[in-house]
Amino acid sequence: MSTFGSPESIYQEILFALQKHQKWFSESIPLIASENVPSPAVREAMVSDFMNRYAEGWPGERVYAGCTYIDQVELHCIDLAKRLFRAEFADVRPISGVTANLAVYSAISEPGDRIVALAIPNGGHISVGKKEFSGTAGLVHGLRVDYFPFNKDEMNIDVDETKKKITKMVEEEKDTPKFVVFGGSLFLFPHPIRQLANFLKSYGITICYDAAHVAGLIAGNQFQDPLREGAEVMMMSTHKTLFGPQGGAILAAEKFSEPIKKAVFPGVTSNHHLHSVAGKAIAFTEMMKFGQEYATQVVRNAKALGQALHDRDLSVMAENKGFTESHQIVIDITKYGLGGDVEKKLEKCNIILNRQLIPGDTKAGRHYMNPGGLRIGVSEITRLGMKQSEMEEIAEFIRRVVVKKEDPKSVTNDVIELRNHFQKVQYCFEPGDAYQYIKIR
Ligand SMILES: *Cc1c(COP(=O)(O)O)cnc(C)c1O
Repeated sequence: MSTFGSPESIYQEILFALQKHQKWFSESIPLIASENVPSPAVREAMVSDFMNRYAEGWPGERVYAGCTYIDQVELHCIDLAKRLFRAEFADVRPISGVTANLAVYSAISEPGDRIVALAIPNGGHISVGKKEFSGTAGLVHGLRVDYFPFNKDEMNIDVDETKKKITKMVEEEKDTPKFVVFGGSLFLFPHPIRQLANFLKSYGITICYDAAHVAGLIAGNQFQDPLREGAEVMMMSTHKTLFGPQGGAILAAEKFSEPIKKAVFPGVTSNHHLHSVAGKAIAFTEMMKFGQEYATQVVRNAKALGQALHDRDLSVMAENKGFTESHQIVIDITKYGLGGDVEKKLEKCNIILNRQLIPGDTKAGRHYMNPGGLRIGVSEITRLGMKQSEMEEIAEFIRRVVVKKEDPKSVTNDVIELRNHFQKVQYCFEPGDAYQYIKIR
C-alpha cells in the first residue's frame, strides 16, 4: 500500500481493495454474529438514487421537495415494521442500532437518570455502557448505569437477584431506575422479561428491549416476543439476523410515539438514510415471507454447530442448556489460547469470527483485545443456504486449526471448496449472488 501516491493511483488502489475484499468474502466462512448478507434487491435499493436525497422528518411532513416516492416507500416500511413485530408504533429512520438506542434514551429519560442493563462481559453492548467505558448511555446521554445480576451457569439474567437489587435501589437508596434494557450482544437465551415485567412496572420502571441481534429471530417467531412479554420499547439493528442493510429501527407502544419521533428527528438525525429505508422495507417483505423458515434453520444450525464443536473438544458454553436458543454460540477458548490470537489464526484460513469477552474475563485480568472467548454466529451462512451437515464441516475446520494446531494455510483450500457450493442468497424473492460485484461505471 502506498501512502504518498497520486490521487489516481490511490483511487485505483481503493477500487482494487473493494474487489479483493469481495473475492475474499466469497471464499470465506463468515461467522460474525452481528453480520449478514442482504438480497440483491436490498443491495439494489442501497445504490439507488434514494441515497442522494434529503427528506428529513416524517412522511407527509418533509422539509424537502422531491419526496413523492420516498414517502411511499417509507410509509410501506413503517407499516411493514408494525405488522412484522406487531407493534403500535414504528420509527424506521434511525441510521443504526446505537442511534436507535440513543433516541430512546433521549425520549424517555434525562441525563443523570439511573438505568439497569447488562455488563459487557455478560453480553451488554457498549451502547448501554457506563461513562468511564465511553458507553453511549453514560458518555453521550449522561445516564448512570447499573448492571443486571447475571447467572453464568444459566448464561442469563438472575431474576431473584435482580429483584433484590432493584428493591434496594428503590426502598433503601431512594433512587429508582428510570428504565431497564434487556437484550445484548452475547445473547444465547431469551431474557426473563415476563418474570420481571410486573415487578418493574410496579415501580414505574420502563422496560426496553434491545433486539439488535435477535430481531430476525423475533420476526420469525423463533425467540421471545418482547412486546407481548412486557417490553414497551424495542430497539434494533436491521442487519444482524434481520435481512436489511445496516440501519436501526424502534418499535414501541403508541404512548411513546411522539417523544421517540422527536428524539429521532431532529434529535439524533437530520436527514436519515433514505436508501437504507428502502432496503429495510424490502427486507421486511422478505422476512414476512421467509422469516419463519429462515429463523428456524438459524437456531437449528447454531445448536448443531455448538454440538459439533463440543464433540471436537472445544468448550462451548451453556452445554447444560443445549448451547443456545439463538443464532450464536460462545466458546471458552482458554484451553487452547486467547480469543484474539485464535481469531487471527482462523482468519488466515478464511474463517471469519470474533473474539469475545466472557463472564469471568475481567476477574481473570483479561482484556477485550485478547479475551477468553470466541463468539460465533450462523446468520450469514444460513442465509447462504447452509444446513446441519455443513456445521459439521465447519466444526472440523475449526478443530484442525485450534485443537490439532494444523497450519491454517493447509485448511484454506477446504474452506474455499465448501464455500464454492454456497454463493447465492436464499430466503428472498429473487435469489442471486451474495458477493457479486456491483458495477455501475
Ligand atoms: C450491535 C448492537 C447494537 C448497535 O448496533 P449498530 O447497528 O451497530 O449501531 C446495539 N445493541 C446491541 C445489543 C448490539 O449488539
